[in-house]
Amino acid sequence: MKYISTRQQEETNIKTAILKGLADDGGLFMPEYIPQLDFEFFENLPNLTLQEIGFRVAKEFLGESISDDNLKEIINEVLNFEIPAIKISENIYSLELFHGPTMAFKDVGARFMARMMSYFSEGKPMKVIAATSGDTGSAVASGFFGVPGIEVYILYPKGKVSPLQEKQLTTWGGNIKALEIDGTFDDCQALAKQILSNDELNQKFTLTSANSINIARLIPQSFYYFWAFAQLQKLGKSIVFSVPSGNFGNLTAGLFAKKMGLPVHRFIASTNENDVIPKFLETGNYEAKPSKQTISNAMDVGNPSNFERMKSLFNNDVSEFKKEIESYSFSDEATKKAMRNVKKEFGYILDPHGAVAYLGLEKYSEKSNEDFVGVLLETAHPAKFVEVVEDVLKEKVEIPEKLEAFNKKEKQSVEFSVDFESVKKYLIEEK
Ligand SMILES: *Cc1c(COP(=O)(O)O)cnc(C)c1O
Repeated sequence: MKYISTRQQEETNIKTAILKGLADDGGLFMPEYIPQLDFEFFENLPNLTLQEIGFRVAKEFLGESISDDNLKEIINEVLNFEIPAIKISENIYSLELFHGPTMAFKDVGARFMARMMSYFSEGKPMKVIAATSGDTGSAVASGFFGVPGIEVYILYPKGKVSPLQEKQLTTWGGNIKALEIDGTFDDCQALAKQILSNDELNQKFTLTSANSINIARLIPQSFYYFWAFAQLQKLGKSIVFSVPSGNFGNLTAGLFAKKMGLPVHRFIASTNENDVIPKFLETGNYEAKPSKQTISNAMDVGNPSNFERMKSLFNNDVSEFKKEIESYSFSDEATKKAMRNVKKEFGYILDPHGAVAYLGLEKYSEKSNEDFVGVLLETAHPAKFVEVVEDVLKEKVEIPEKLEAFNKKEKQSVEFSVDFESVKKYLIEEK
């Protein structure tokens, strides 16, 4: 299997695609075609474990680049937590993607990426640079923690992440270093880019970025669409997935699953007020905008990076997009109301992102009048957004032990002003 940049100027293998992340022409790597799974796989799907599904799906994308035994070992390490489909109401299920170490769905992608990078770097020391506005950084840190040969530098904006997020970034120790930058997220991202493109640093070290566009984060996110299907197929109804979307990586992975043969009836791309994609499907015009701040802040994205991948899947044709995807945008007010309703009627607590996905299912149901099973992807544990959830529901949210454990640990960070030279000096002298 070859991997080709969405901008068509670069073609490579999976190993290089993963180690580089972004193609030199600025595009995102895509497999040259989406592999098909055979009839027997689907017939047997309800009998497979999540790990077995993961192995079969990943194998299609990785081919001979890794042995079956190594791949199985990696999949078993990555998916060492449950992803249950919990019934909320008669026809709505919540696929809880938040049972990993940092309690957000990004654990799935980040853990797989970390292990694949480590495998393909063959023990050569590597420095991973990641700028974060909060959640991605902790999933990346957790994914790489203790991975031999790899040093991780997380750049985060001082005072601009929540107290719990900060603990999740700064308390690892070992091969994870937190760089606390006295600036904004954009400053952190700019510094990360400067580091990655600096000649002197590139001569001294093997540098790579752990950003959200790496193909190794996308592949494992397709596993759980098959897994949800395996569990809900027996209901004998068509299945609709609602995906709370920001950069649209999660949704793109679902599109991969469908192209591989999974009979998904429809995808709903649910967004907050950052509505570039819903607008695009309505008008046919793609217009990036500055992002707006909302209560579902992991989806505050004004120029979704995976749009390039979706375009290539749909041959740049809006009508093809529309055949697979409905997309709706919802306000914070509507989101809060959904959180309150679902708690009151069904006793289930949604985090703000899951609530946006819930609204997507509701709206689709009103519009289509179809009889279907709706699956919302619940991308974060409500306790990760405890301030919002408690404010909306007017009740105390229990903090799981896994998150509480971070709170108890000591913060360790190195502070910098927005100054590339001092960060560079640190990287060279550190150890
Ligand atoms: C990142 C994130 C999303 C958005 O996922 P994309 O793949 O960027 O669309 C949704 N919810 C939570 C909690 C997230 O952390």
